[in-house]
Amino acid sequence: MTEKLKTGARLSQQLRAAVICLQAASPSPRVDAELLLAHVLARPRSYLYAWPERALTKMELGAYADCIDRRVRGEPVAHLTGRREFWSLDLEVTADTLVPRPETEGLVEFALERIPTGAHWQLADLGTGTGTVALAVAKERPTCRMLAADISTGALAVARRNARRLQIPNIDFVRSNWLAGFRDSSFDMVLCNPPYVADIDPCLVDGDLRFEPSGALASGPEGLDDLRRVITGASTVLRSGGWLVLEHGTDQGKTVRTLLETNGYTEATTRRDLAGHERISAARQG
Ligand code: GLN
Repeated sequence: MTEKLKTGARLSQQLRAAVICLQAASPSPRVDAELLLAHVLARPRSYLYAWPERALTKMELGAYADCIDRRVRGEPVAHLTGRREFWSLDLEVTADTLVPRPETEGLVEFALERIPTGAHWQLADLGTGTGTVALAVAKERPTCRMLAADISTGALAVARRNARRLQIPNIDFVRSNWLAGFRDSSFDMVLCNPPYVADIDPCLVDGDLRFEPSGALASGPEGLDDLRRVITGASTVLRSGGWLVLEHGTDQGKTVRTLLETNGYTEATTRRDLAGHERISAARQG
């Protein structure tokens, strides 16, 4: 397929050829082609527009053709570039972690609306992955202390590197299976984007999701196993009046609110994502 990429051709032509290769495989062929070419050239995306006449060297062309081939086979762009932007933070991403998604910015917004500026709150992010949620919230609320937990040592290593590179000092990391490793019971807020896709959901064997860790995506027959665990467990580590803020599947809002209420939480409320689907729910420890 990538024989369409030619030695000697200009950047603009290479990009057009790559878009054609990616059309069937990706919902965003142009953006993918640009991000991958910018990655191969180790330049910002704007460089592609500043130097459309520049030709690729043989080595650059080989590297680009390899990236395009892998993307055509379904590998996420973020795995190929090793990077994904979230909340204006440039995050390192590896195959050990879920690729940060735009809908998770709603979780960060929802949390920030509830944490007063200058507060000295104890926060926790469960299943932190690349550190996505923990890093964004800790950066916006530097007077708070964040404990970011994950069961995966690979993910924790990535999250730690992100915190160090982005110089966000108010985060500690701990390896924990959800709340198993937690001793403190005075958290002001627990945040969590757990796996919530049903085990049998066909999207798991399609597209980019095939390349992401299934432990970060799938959670039992209805996708609710980990949401249940977190809702039950968080009530033991939250102070009275403390917040639990969760991301969940678009069809799980009602069930999550019911689970929150039956576990003694109050003020359960849900927010929709940009596509208009219920996506984030929060409640207070009663
Ligand atoms: N929103 C993701 C998806 O549907 C799932 C992320 C998750 O399970 N936390 O692709």
